[in-house]
Amino acid sequence: MQQRSDKWNITGQLDELRAQGLWRELRPLDEASGVTVRTAGQEWINFSSNDYLGLAGSAEMQNALAEGVARYGGGSGASRLVCGSHRAHAALEEALADFKGTEAALTFSSGFAVALGTIPALMGAEDTIILDKLSHASLVDAARLSGATIRVFPHNHLEKLERLLQTAKGRVLVVTESIFSMDGDAAPLEDIVALKNKFGAWLLVDEAHAVGVLGPQGRGLAAALGVDQQVDLHLGTLSKAFGLSGGYLAASRQVIDLLINRARSFIYSTAPPFHLAHALNVILNLIRSEQGEALRAQVLGIAKQAHDLLASMGVASPPGAAAILPLIIGEASRAVAVSSRLRDSGFLIPCIRYPTVARGSARLRITLSARHTAPQIQALGQALREALDFQD
Ligand code: PMP
Repeated sequence: MQQRSDKWNITGQLDELRAQGLWRELRPLDEASGVTVRTAGQEWINFSSNDYLGLAGSAEMQNALAEGVARYGGGSGASRLVCGSHRAHAALEEALADFKGTEAALTFSSGFAVALGTIPALMGAEDTIILDKLSHASLVDAARLSGATIRVFPHNHLEKLERLLQTAKGRVLVVTESIFSMDGDAAPLEDIVALKNKFGAWLLVDEAHAVGVLGPQGRGLAAALGVDQQVDLHLGTLSKAFGLSGGYLAASRQVIDLLINRARSFIYSTAPPFHLAHALNVILNLIRSEQGEALRAQVLGIAKQAHDLLASMGVASPPGAAAILPLIIGEASRAVAVSSRLRDSGFLIPCIRYPTVARGSARLRITLSARHTAPQIQALGQALREALDFQD
């Protein structure tokens, strides 16, 4: 075994990761309830989850899942093209299409699977995909898998995007996130829409970190800006503000029909359990309701409090447009040390390093939830001050 590892240079690769401060390991976790996580008798306030509305541990979630399990049991047994398409999935997709203002929607087992299925189903070797530099790994991998020519524009750089659109060949797809996962800032969607219209390109917007949090009824940033009807492909996850798991692509009926026939991560993957579809539909109704509106106001209020606190400490990160605040540290080893000191003080804040973000831009990524309280943000400020001072 050892010999085989060496031949494949597994040991060497692991050593190199450790030497560069890029080593990652899975930390055990016994219990997560609300914004508190526990393991081996220790407890932390969790600032690392994307459960923005705090729905994952809610009574509504428990009830929706229990009802779904009682009605539909466990796994779905096979792909929807093989076993039949259950009405719980159809109901969820109709509700998602209505929510996003599109003709149709298709659900997948994760947000990652949506990108991997959708982009290669629509784009091929003759085509061009133009991505924002900070697009999520799933979008980058999907673009590579499609075989299309890939062009990348610097983050939110409209002039460069325009230049790339001028010379792009074949069918052209512009890809961006709406709220960026590691920077928390927003894409200039109105300008991007104007450009893609000018050049007759299509636009895919990944609203993973905006759906549920921004816009009327939580429809996302494009809806908040009033340009959602001009987005061709709406990608979203059901694992963050929705508090469960899965992902969706909302678009025209024809695009969805093509995906049913061509999206390999949909066709060749077992359908998500029906009880999940049931619970997601209940949660979607909650997200669209007054109660959802109140949760959005709460998480955005907490995010603003956290941002103002960082600004008052002179470590302001770019203004968070939703519920993600990056605190750029720079060197990976320093970011690891600050994150670990915060953990010792009872705060779980992940350190994000290369390859997730560019080298030299290691950061703490603080995510807020509707369940965080003002005193918890105060306490976080104090702990951050101490952890940063300790490192200086
Ligand atoms: N897009 C973005 C922008 C994301 O941040 C993520 C999750 N990290 C995904 C897609 C993938 O979604 P999921 O976790 O549901 O696979």
